[in-house]
Amino acid sequence: MPVVTAYISLGSNLDAPVQQVLSAVEEIAGIENTELIATSRLYRSDPVGPGDQEDYINAVVGVHTKLAPLQLLDAIQDIENAHGRKRIVRWGSRTLDLDLLLYGEETINNERLIVPHKEMHWRNFVLRPLADITPNLILPTGQNLQKLLQTIGDEGLSAIADIPLPEPA
Ligand code: ATP
Ligand code: CA
Ligand code: CA
Repeated sequence: MPVVTAYISLGSNLDAPVQQVLSAVEEIAGIENTELIATSRLYRSDPVGPGDQEDYINAVVGVHTKLAPLQLLDAIQDIENAHGRKRIVRWGSRTLDLDLLLYGEETINNERLIVPHKEMHWRNFVLRPLADITPNLILPTGQNLQKLLQTIGDEGLSAIADIPLPEPA
């Protein structure tokens, strides 16, 4: 099985969000046929969704995986569900949101999965942590990560801590 480098974003704004994100990092490290290779810093960001919401906690992790894209999506959705994720309102508050940002150089577009993640290009709370891990990245769209970040800036976003890379099990 080929090994692919993939990047996953983490976000939470309910029920002790820092703990939600840190435990999710450990759980991603435990996904079968997948190795956690890098973690961003931990960030706090202003809510952008509808209504009056709490601040978000965000991070990005990099993995080496032998899973196919939909298998990896299944695995991260299992983790979301284990964190009590309920889909009530689009972009509403959530205990844990895990998005598959990038899967190697692949462009994927099917009913369940769009990669690169379709909203990542304008979200500083995704691109800044991604740049902690892979600062010189060129996206499959040809866009330069640093140039995107220069355009959107860091408004509403602050790094609050480092995330240690969990020990391999
Ligand atoms: P956004 O997509 O704007 O970040 P969201 O994360 O709140 O919004 P969800 O309700 O978590 O959206 O996901 C809706 C659906 O998006 C999921 O059921 C999933 O099948 C689909 N999806 C498509 N592409 C991806 C991806 N790259 N990563 C995660 N889910 C994806
Ligand atoms: Ca999301
Ligand atoms: Ca999601």
